[in-house]
Amino acid sequence: MRTTVLDGRVYRSDGVTLNWHLPTEVENVPEIQDLQWIWRCRSCGNSGISRIAPMECAGCNAINITRHRLLQPAGFAVDLRHEPHNDITIPQYILPRDPLVSLAVDWIELAPPLLGRYRTSPTGQLVHYSNGLYGNGYSLCLRCGWAKPLPADNQPIDEKPHKRLRGGRLNDREQHCPGNDADWSILNEVYLGIATQTELFELQLRSTGFEQTFDKDKIVAYSLAVALRRALCQQLGIEEGEIGALVKPARGSKNELTHSLYLYDVATGGAGYVSQIADQLPELLRIARTVLANCPNDCDAACQGCLLTYDTQHHVDDLNRHHALALFNTEFLAAFPL
Ligand SMILES: [Zn+2]
Ligand SMILES: [Zn+2]
Ligand SMILES: [Zn+2]
Repeated sequence: MRTTVLDGRVYRSDGVTLNWHLPTEVENVPEIQDLQWIWRCRSCGNSGISRIAPMECAGCNAINITRHRLLQPAGFAVDLRHEPHNDITIPQYILPRDPLVSLAVDWIELAPPLLGRYRTSPTGQLVHYSNGLYGNGYSLCLRCGWAKPLPADNQPIDEKPHKRLRGGRLNDREQHCPGNDADWSILNEVYLGIATQTELFELQLRSTGFEQTFDKDKIVAYSLAVALRRALCQQLGIEEGEIGALVKPARGSKNELTHSLYLYDVATGGAGYVSQIADQLPELLRIARTVLANCPNDCDAACQGCLLTYDTQHHVDDLNRHHALALFNTEFLAAFPL
């Protein structure tokens, strides 16, 4: 059994439903709309998707990028050869990855500007993706949609010849997939994903509360993002499940290494929530600070009384309300009274 998690939903799948049907005489990788590239810049943290193979970061022009083929499947297919059964086995549960986020709009400096900057867009891009159980992507057949996660050692899967997914109901009449016989038809290290647009808000704070140590600053940034989400949800009277929160390593305005905090509307297309953050940012930061300071359980790092929720449980190691409180030090508050 193989399962795939995309967009928070779990699919049991032996492959993907392809939107195209390739004639048998095809000799090269054809132009396929649903097959794109997903990239991420190792230098500045930007990411995105593109139709042509990206050579450099669209944000900082660095050539230090990782890129993978990204297939947006029409659906997920179950191999019809599998007998239905009642046997409940433990699925290979794939932890949901944080979506990739990108927004291409100008930054706005906080007043006073030395304290940080933000930007917000109603048409930010979010890519929910799966790169398999070991993070190495999938082996994918472009002819039939057969897909299998690459193993931990990232070696190509030696399962030739595979049978055509949904090739037929009777085992003795099934054909080997013609994709087995062409070099181009099986792609490796493919990511499966869904790209959507939604409202996105990105914040970079500058404070001596960051210590310039990568792991700890990630905790500071993520804990603040989760607290800021709670503040927004309290203000708007909405459920926390309506807003996504995440952090990514990024470059600041002086090209320094930092972390970006993102909040986004979970509803595809946006719901009009995170676009309201900018106008209320001082008030929301004040509430977030209260969330961090006043846990009803007075916990040491994070608990269900403060920062731990259904979705943050996957990042429990990145939550510590005390670390995040260090942002709001005397220096910060003198410049930006909350
Ligand atoms: Zn870059
Ligand atoms: Zn195939
Ligand atoms: Zn707590």
